[in-house]
Amino acid sequence: MSIQALGSPPKWAVNAVCAESTSEFFYPDEQDYITASAAKWACRRCPVRDECLQWALENDEQFGVWGATTPKERRRIKRTAGER
Ligand code: SF4
Repeated sequence: MSIQALGSPPKWAVNAVCAESTSEFFYPDEQDYITASAAKWACRRCPVRDECLQWALENDEQFGVWGATTPKERRRIKRTAGER
């Protein structure tokens, strides 16, 4: 699944850099650090990166690269936020 395949994608998704990409690229296996790094690099030039990351955190996205973060990085962000 990709952001464009969501049942009702958020409005900001129309400007997503990944809209024209294959979903596999943004959903690498957990151990595929090379593809994850490439996807994160693509996110860095995305105009909706902040919105994307916020959406992934709020919706507890467990898979894929969102807002230039991997699932592991998002878990760390949430853990850190919970400690405050
Ligand atoms: S930040 Fe990355 S995953 Fe999010 S919409 Fe942009 S390209 Fe797609």
